[in-house]
Amino acid sequence: MAEQVLLLNATYEPLKVVPWQKAVHLFFQGKIEIVETYDRQIASAHLTMRMPAVVRLFRLVSFHHVRQMVKFSRETLFTRDSFCCQYCGKRFDKHDLTFDHVLPAARGGPKTWENIVTACRKCNHRKSGKTPEEAGMKLLKKAERPHWSPAILVMMNLNCRGPKVWENYLYDASRTMFSQTVEPHM
Ligand SMILES: [Zn+2]
Repeated sequence: MAEQVLLLNATYEPLKVVPWQKAVHLFFQGKIEIVETYDRQIASAHLTMRMPAVVRLFRLVSFHHVRQMVKFSRETLFTRDSFCCQYCGKRFDKHDLTFDHVLPAARGGPKTWENIVTACRKCNHRKSGKTPEEAGMKLLKKAERPHWSPAILVMMNLNCRGPKVWENYLYDASRTMFSQTVEPHM
């Protein structure tokens, strides 16, 4: 855990978690400032410095760009749908959930945020190669790309609480977690 660095936007909003080597590289490129460090030292032939723990970008990254960083995976998809089958509405353990192509893959339905929903095995089986209309099933809500704030991404990448030295930065972010950030102008 101590080798991960919390990367903050110019506004101090958490963006993502990066390996310490990446943070040091960005530092020497003059792209970030080091805000917090770990006790551990990094030593090479040319330098000795404390390992960065929290770093901040000098340049503002737009919220639009941050949204693009939400990678499509089982975990992110199920999180978007709150681990609920989008047909019957029941909540399941992730091991009992599946991907469902709203427009079936066999009929050209793409694997995108807008065409994939969480479905339980029973509903997925019942729908099989049909569209919801053909199967007589109704989606709870329209499938779309998640609108998460960076703080949620950071926590999801961690899958747990971060190091203590990150707490102040994640706490600030969690208070505004669900607020819709206005996209900043560069
Ligand atoms: Zn279901």
